[in-house]
Amino acid sequence: MFFSDDDFPSPSALPPRSEIDDSLKWNLAALYASIDDWERDFAILDSLLNAANRFNGHLGDSPERLKGAYEAFDALHRTLEKVYTHARLASDEDISDSEPMGRLDRITARFAELQGALAWFEPELLALPDERIEEYLNSAELAFYKRSIGETLRFKPHTLSAGEERLLGMASDALSTPEKVFSALNNVDIVFPEVPDGKGGSVVLTHGNFSKLLESENREVREKAFNAMYDTFGKYRDTLTATLAGCVKTHLLNRAARKYPSALDASLHVDDVPRSVYENLISTVRKRLPDFHSYLELRKKVLKIDDLGMHDLRNPLISDRDKTFTWGEARAMVLAALAPLGGEYAKLAERAFDERWIDVMESKGKRSGAYSGGCYDSYPYILMNFNGTLNDVFTLAHELGHSMHSLLSKTNQEYHYADYRIFVAEVASTTNELLLHDYLKRSSSDDDELSAHLLTHLLDEIRGTVYRQTMFAEFEKHIHEELEAGRPLTADSLSESYCELNKAYHGKVIDADARIAVEWARIPHFYYNFYVYKYATGFSAAAALSKGVLSGNSAKLEAYLGFLKAGSTKNVLDIMLDAGVDLRSSKPVDDALDLFAETTAELADSLFSTKII
Ligand SMILES: [Zn+2]
Repeated sequence: MFFSDDDFPSPSALPPRSEIDDSLKWNLAALYASIDDWERDFAILDSLLNAANRFNGHLGDSPERLKGAYEAFDALHRTLEKVYTHARLASDEDISDSEPMGRLDRITARFAELQGALAWFEPELLALPDERIEEYLNSAELAFYKRSIGETLRFKPHTLSAGEERLLGMASDALSTPEKVFSALNNVDIVFPEVPDGKGGSVVLTHGNFSKLLESENREVREKAFNAMYDTFGKYRDTLTATLAGCVKTHLLNRAARKYPSALDASLHVDDVPRSVYENLISTVRKRLPDFHSYLELRKKVLKIDDLGMHDLRNPLISDRDKTFTWGEARAMVLAALAPLGGEYAKLAERAFDERWIDVMESKGKRSGAYSGGCYDSYPYILMNFNGTLNDVFTLAHELGHSMHSLLSKTNQEYHYADYRIFVAEVASTTNELLLHDYLKRSSSDDDELSAHLLTHLLDEIRGTVYRQTMFAEFEKHIHEELEAGRPLTADSLSESYCELNKAYHGKVIDADARIAVEWARIPHFYYNFYVYKYATGFSAAAALSKGVLSGNSAKLEAYLGFLKAGSTKNVLDIMLDAGVDLRSSKPVDDALDLFAETTAELADSLFSTKII
């Protein structure tokens, strides 16, 4: 599983990887000591496939045969994921290096082939007579697989014949072309101009330094970077309309082939999440837009900018202290912040550093951003591009949250149920960020300036995960519905609807530059099939759960750790309910937005009473 938080490429003027100290690189040798070992596992996939295919036509024979099939499939997938994980991580060390990238291409293509070759399983299981299924569901032999059988049955109305499934499986690699074209353009081919660096010189704009430039206190730097980013994307508007519309069309193809009422329903069905969760999120956030506008008013007042623009959202409200942290300090801060999660958690978290799960530094060609990724037989690795900022410390806490969730699930669950659903993926990571926030706030109570920084950091987080991602979620819903209604997506229609949404979300407080209309063109997440709403629900769950952990109530801590260990043993909303959050109601989202409103008020108080500004 890979949980990527920022898919942006890195600048080119960086040290080569060979100059980075080994202690700051992840230890991929722990996964495969050599490429020969990797090749050996790649070659084994054939025999594992044959072993799985021997059950073809025999699922109805007996409970033992079905159990045997599950075991053979798991053996194949487990090796497949291991081979894939190594290829993916190795290629991210330097995405311009064609040798590891070649291995990644090979295993990705093999993945798709195998999916096609194994596509007989579900249709065959679903074609069994009801009495047979009933017998299986009650058999002691299959007790462990009862949930899996139930999950397959849930897809019965949406599963095609074996031949049709095989065809869709074979097409999956080709159907990922729109996303691949977007990624190639966005990560490699696109070239941005030079922009002022804020230090009197200039710098070539990259996705990596874009957010840094938008955080500059120098308004001209922010504005020039903003303009250069969107003017450049504006030049590729037609290509990017084709890639995004192409991606939406693949979702529509899936919807039509599998007979879902809509592409949104098809996506939500995977997690067994009712449509009301998605719709409640949008309506709740819409209702709370006035709180967001109050926050923007505060920015305007504090920054003393009458014509607050879209490029004035990320810069610090109070003068940046330029304080940076060493890797050792970041480690100590994060581990101290996670102490409320208990001794068992703390001991496991130390391993991330001691066993070198983390690839820390930026280097030439390295995939930018940050993610946690791994498989059942690997460490839960973390890729970072650590520059020592406070944000980077938060990123470390975040990615460690993903990795600890993976570790606890796989040490407490068999392979078959160890992977947790993407729906809950951002919960553990965000909880860790909120714990870090609380820890830093407590340890800086005599430092008004740092306190104010932390409040703005939290507000920015809620702005970014709840308000912004819900706006994205609305956009995604809209573009799918447009095509479903037979209205084509054009560069103009995409920009027009994106611009309208921006106006609605940011209100009259913002003097929105027309350039923001093309922002849709650069967001990788629009290719992820209704992924982004999970950031907003995930943050809301995390806000409630971190409150529970920090209350010191041991039952609440146990309930939270239970969630981290649960893997995919239950429906995601039930796992969350066991942990103490009811995401079927609007309350968690409303509570998270209460936290936003309270934090805005607290920040206003602290800024105007302590005269920091
Ligand atoms: Zn994440």
